[in-house]
Amino acid sequence: MPNRPQPHFPEPDTQHYWEGVKQGELRYQTCDACSAVNFYPTAHCQKCGNLSLTWRQSRGEGTVYTFSVVMQNRIPGFQELGAYAVAYVDLDEGFRMLTNVMVDGDPTQNVHIGQRVRVDFEKQDTGEYPIPVFRPI
Ligand SMILES: [Zn+2]
Repeated sequence: MPNRPQPHFPEPDTQHYWEGVKQGELRYQTCDACSAVNFYPTAHCQKCGNLSLTWRQSRGEGTVYTFSVVMQNRIPGFQELGAYAVAYVDLDEGFRMLTNVMVDGDPTQNVHIGQRVRVDFEKQDTGEYPIPVFRPI
């Protein structure tokens, strides 16, 4: 099983997000003043600065906006992965997330811009928080 770095708490802006991840939910925020979709989670709207935001649950489906393949990473928690795709995924609710797209075989061949993907919560060897990654639908 993978052994990725875990979030460190207290982390007031993202704690609710990570609690969602632990329950198999991908959460994001919308602004109560300007209705902007807000992600990554913050205490204020990144568009207008308003402090009132509402948490929502994403369906977890989106499209690969772009990606790159890391061929080798010596950082603990990543060195066992082999080649892996780092991608921006555009979620259907209107936010963009930096994540991994996990595929069988060669990610340079099997990940594509425009590919439809769905979130998966990858359990970790150590630590209670799974890591949200994406897989082709
Ligand atoms: Zn706003």
